[in-house]
Amino acid sequence: MRFYLATRFLFPRHFHLRIFTICFVAVHLPLIAFVTSQVALGEWQWQVFVPLLLATLAGTLAAIYALGALLEPIRRASAMLRAVQDGQAVTDIPAGGRDLAGELLDSVGLAALATNTRISQLRDAAERDLLTGLRNRRGFLDAAAHLRAGTRATLALVDIDFFKRINDIFGHDEGDMVLQEFSHRLGETMRRSDLVARWGGEEFAILIPGMGPREARALIERLRTALHDRPIGPNPEEPVTFSCGLSFLRGPEQIAVAMQRADKALYTAKRGGRDRIELDAELELPA
Ligand code: GH3
Ligand code: MG
Ligand code: MG
Repeated sequence: MRFYLATRFLFPRHFHLRIFTICFVAVHLPLIAFVTSQVALGEWQWQVFVPLLLATLAGTLAAIYALGALLEPIRRASAMLRAVQDGQAVTDIPAGGRDLAGELLDSVGLAALATNTRISQLRDAAERDLLTGLRNRRGFLDAAAHLRAGTRATLALVDIDFFKRINDIFGHDEGDMVLQEFSHRLGETMRRSDLVARWGGEEFAILIPGMGPREARALIERLRTALHDRPIGPNPEEPVTFSCGLSFLRGPEQIAVAMQRADKALYTAKRGGRDRIELDAELELPA
């Protein structure tokens, strides 16, 4: 490290230029020695000087080109580390040779892959609900933030009716199974482009991009009737039902307001007797 640190004053931010400079000086040493000796002897042999000069220039160019190419693994390794630091996915991992630079490239490539995998596992763990496998509140909000401004979408808040009773009568594990089955039904009904999340407890949030509230209502109505036709839950006498509040938004910046309105509509659905879908009362329905 001592020589490396001592030569830092030469191009402190450009390692390759430092190597090129050292190489340039080293390649020119014979020429310098020749010129010095000629001057000391007081003679000048052009027939020696010209080939020596040409050989030196050719050697310099070849050495600089070769060194530039040999530094490529280090350049690639550095680029991969920078991509990892910037949180970008590193997909193109070049294979290194069995020498020092190749080993460095391989090690950095493996480290970058492992870091990527770890980051996506952690992100998944942070954004998924363990019980249902759906997005959690954070995952929902993160994904919803990618909705483009101006994109019309319907927001649905869905809450299972009298869920506490299931827990009280059949136990918490049975309650958990109902949550899982219900999530499965949600997954069956909604489209791949819809964002379905467990908002908390027995409450679910669904963002339906590209659909107005009337169409969305029809879609969720299908889920409601399917639960009557093919009931879930431990008690066939009392099938699981849900209430739902719908609101409309244009773009991610309106999510918080849309949530409040959907919550109000959900409250109306509960007060109205449950097992029903209500639209936001303040909704100006798009034409
Ligand atoms: P409502 O029709 O008004 O929505 O009545 P409800 O009983 O569904 O609502 P309430 O808010 O009174 O009860 C919700 C219950 O959900 C209470 C809580 O213990 C239960 N719960 C929340 N999270 C979980 C969970 O992960 N697993 C289970 N088994 N129960 C949960
Ligand atoms: Mg409930
Ligand atoms: Mg609730």
